Order: sequence, then structure tokens, then C-alpha cells
Amino acid sequence: MLKSAPALAFDLTGNGNGKSIVILGGGIAGMTAAYELNKLGYTCTILETRERSGGRCWSVRNGSLSTEITNGKQQAKFDNDLYFNAGPSRIPHHHQLTLHYCKELGVPLQIYNNVNENAYYFSEGKGALSNKKIRVREIHNDLRGYTTELLAKAIDQNKLDTGFTKEDSEKVISWLMAEGGLDPDKLYKASARRGYIEQPGPKNRSGKISDPYTLSEILGSGLMEPDFYNVAEYTYELQMTMFQAVGGMDQIAKALEKKVAANLKLNAKVDSITNLDQGVKVTYTEKGVSKSITADLCICTIPLPVLSNINHNFSGDVSRSIDFASYIQTSKMGLQFKRRFWEEDEAIYGGITHTNNELTQIFYPSNDYQGKKGILLGYYNFNDKAKAVGDLSYQDRLTLALSKGSLIHPQYANEFENAFSVSWHKVPENLGGWAVYTSETRKTQYQALLKPDKQTYFAGEHLTYLNAWMAGAFESARSVVADVHARLSEQRIAYPTTESKG
Ligand SMILES: Cc1cc2nc3c(=O)[nH]c(=O)nc-3n(C[C@H](O)[C@H](O)[C@H](O)COP(=O)(O)OP(=O)(O)OC[C@H]3O[C@@H](n4cnc5c(N)ncnc54)[C@H](O)[C@@H]3O)c2cc1C
Repeated sequence: MLKSAPALAFDLTGNGNGKSIVILGGGIAGMTAAYELNKLGYTCTILETRERSGGRCWSVRNGSLSTEITNGKQQAKFDNDLYFNAGPSRIPHHHQLTLHYCKELGVPLQIYNNVNENAYYFSEGKGALSNKKIRVREIHNDLRGYTTELLAKAIDQNKLDTGFTKEDSEKVISWLMAEGGLDPDKLYKASARRGYIEQPGPKNRSGKISDPYTLSEILGSGLMEPDFYNVAEYTYELQMTMFQAVGGMDQIAKALEKKVAANLKLNAKVDSITNLDQGVKVTYTEKGVSKSITADLCICTIPLPVLSNINHNFSGDVSRSIDFASYIQTSKMGLQFKRRFWEEDEAIYGGITHTNNELTQIFYPSNDYQGKKGILLGYYNFNDKAKAVGDLSYQDRLTLALSKGSLIHPQYANEFENAFSVSWHKVPENLGGWAVYTSETRKTQYQALLKPDKQTYFAGEHLTYLNAWMAGAFESARSVVADVHARLSEQRIAYPTTESKG
């Protein structure tokens, strides 16, 4: 009987009385908009160019297809029960709207293990620790130890101009000793925190603690540089607890699709958008046949680099914002293995290995632990590294992923079965991973798209401060539905800002 939390309330009143909305793009934003507009009595049509819904919310399974702009068709040949998430793979605990829709749509969630102290840092070709598999916990604890030791020493010797009282200094030193695991002399020595070279066991087996690396070894190997150290795990969005949809993130898109199946036209590629004096006309090609539709209003969720190539009669400001949009280059590859050697041989259950080579990251699956086979992400990279692998043929990408990955996991050679890669900046329906803004473009280009251009509204992750997250698509859909409903039902509705409560 309790009302849902205010952040999730979306109790719009009034009725759309069958007024028509054409929605361009059947990703999360487009389908959520249709789902909410249906509830309010509007007549929606979603035009989606792909033969599937979901857009970037896509899990690659046996038979999945993709064609990239400089590579031909690729078909996944994974085992039937295996998949990898080519787009979204994790949901932060503070993305309340994403969690809300999973609940409302009946999509079960499970914990996504984003942080794993037993995964590796692997610095290729750099310094004394070059080409050595180093457990994340070893570097975390060594760096915590050395930096707290340095700071404790500086405070002891009054070398910090802090204005601390003696009592404050004692409190800070006591915290530093606990945080860094320092000994009574305030020195960092080996401790069980960084793991064992011989595990503790029965009878007299007390375990053997591993020795720390020296600070200069760590420094010289680049392990304090942004390629490695806590690049991900400390950011707000990537802090545990994180979730994933059971059975693949595409379950979220599939659940939405069920709700809007009657509205959804697949294989319908939008060719032009024309604002009329009243209403809007959209031409599209459906299975090779040119068609058109008119509606009272349009909601366009097509990613901006794709929209830039579509004919329209938008204003100069809007047109420029679309044409100058910037999206990230990002690539992922799923690798199927005969056996979960990362679990069986190396006790890695989920989490991420970081490396400075082209792979950038290897992601281990957070599902089906201790199963027989599995798919891991052979790479997940961005910007220049994503561009470099994206420029390769599918086969050359695989050769690279296997050769670089084998440096970390020599088991690749015997256990590899098959692969599928996606370079999102080469996917014609997206032409990029997600929108990237500077503080300057937020003030200029971004602003122009927050308002409708006559009868056409814009929505999608790119119109939020939640870029790279499904939460952006959900939030944007709700926001545009409120605007459209306010206009057509002539009610003044303020969209509730759903700020995360952290
Ligand atoms: C590599 C990667 C990792 C990510 N990781 C996460 C994550 O861990 N967690 C998370 O929450 N989010 C993640 N995201 C972000 C998330 O996937 C997106 O923010 C969200 O799915 C965007 O939804 P959308 O509806 O705005 O856009 P899209 O999903 O891109 O939908 C736009 C739709 O428009 C269609 N379209 C394009 N051209 C036309 C045309 N001419 N005619 C008709 N239709 C057209 C497209 O086919 C597509 O279906 C990730 C994204 C990527 C790429």
C-alpha cells in the first residue's frame, strides 16, 4: 500500500485521447517512451531500422548478426546457452530508474561483480614488473602501504604544513597506520592483505605471505598511471553494489518490447523527418519499400551521428548540434572457451583485469560461476585503442585478442572456441558508443536539443548527464513523455527530477 519513492513517481494525469506520436528508434529510450505514452492513451508507432529492438542494449548469442561499415557480415557461433553483453553489462545501485523498470517489467537481477582483488594488472613491456601477472590486491595494498608510510613519516617530521594540532596529527597517523597496514614503526612490510604464496591450511600450515614489490618497481612499470590504478573502481558509477539482468542485459529490452510489440515496426529505416505546419511527416523504408507516416508529434531517439545523415528541415541551431556531436569510439570482443580456466586455475570470479596493451581490459563473467564453458570479454577499450582494433578485419581483431590475451592467460591456446567483436563506432545504426560532451558543448550544442524543433522532440542517453548508461535512456524517455503530454493534453506538468540518492 506504500506509494513508490518520489524519485520513481510518474503519475501523469490526463489523457492523450489517441493523439499520434511517431517514435524514431526502438532502443530503450524509444520503447520506454512508447510504453509510458500508451499508458496515457496516445497512439504510438515506433520505427526501428534493425531487425531487432533494443539498440545498444544487446546481448550477442548464437546466430546474432552484425555488419560494420568497413567489415562485412559477422554471425555469432556461440553455444546456445552462452552470451555476452556487447553494450550494457552493469547497473549501478543508484540508477534507481533502471532498477525500477527492471522490477516493473519483471526482469530478475543478479549481482555483477565489478571489483575483484584477485584479477590482474598486466603491464606489457614496461619496467621491472613487465609481462608479469600481478594480482590487483598486491598493487592496491603495496601502494596503500607505501603512500601511508610516506605521509606518516612527513607528519612525524612536521614536514606538512597542515596546521594540525598534536592530537589531530596523532589521529591522522593512527588512521594512516590502519589504512596502510603499517607496523608499529610506521613502516610498510609484507602482510596477509596482499595475499599468500602458500595458503594457510591444517595443522602447522600457517601460510606464507608474499613480499611487497618496491615502490620504484611499481612506479617504473607504470602501475601508478591512469592505465591501471583504480581507473574504474573508484568512480561513482562503478562502485559496488552493481547488478546485471539474469540471462543477459537484452532481457530488459525484450521485456520492454513485449509491452510495445503492437507499436513496433522493425526493419523500418527512417529516411527523412519533416516538420509540417501542423504535425510531422516521416518517410522510411520498410523491407525495401518506401513509406511515410504523419503524426501529431515525433520523438526522435536516433543517435546523433546517424541522425546527421538523415534528411530533415530542422532549424540551423538544431542541425548544427546534430552534425557536430561527438561520440566515443569503443570496442568489445566476446571469446568463448571450452573451460572456465580463469575460475578453475586462477580463482577469478568476475571482475576486471587491467592492461596497458590494446586490450585495455579483460572482463570475467559474473554469471554461471563454476559452470563448464564461458564467454569472457577479450577486450573492452576506448578511443585510440578502440579505433585501432576497430580498423582491423574481424579475423585480425581475433588474432590480436588471442595473442595479447595469451600473455596473461596462456590457457587461451588450448581452450579457445570462437569469438564475436563489436566496434560501436563502426556499427551503422550507432556510429559511436555514447555521446561525449565538454563543459563548452553542454552550454551550446546540447542546449539546442533539449527543446523541441517544432513538432519534433529529441530523446536518448545523449540528452542527459547519464551518458553511457541505460539510466540516461530511461530518464530521457520519461522527461520527453512529460513534455509531450504537457503540450498535447494542455496540462502544465513538471517532470520530477529523479536525482539519485546515492
Ligand atoms: C560498449 C557499451 C557499454 C555500455 N555499458 C553500459 C552499462 O554497463 N550499463 C548501462 O546502464 N549502460 C551501458 N551502456 C549505455 C546504454 O547501452 C545506452 O545508454 C542505452 O542503451 C541507449 O539507449 P537509447 O535508446 O538512447 O539509444 P539506442 O539504444 O542506440 O537506440 C537508438 C535506436 O535507433 C535506431 N536507429 C538508428 N538509425 C535509425 C534509422 N535511420 N531509422 C530507425 N531507427 C534507427 C537504432 O537501431 C537503435 O535501436 C553501454 C553502451 C555501450 C555502447
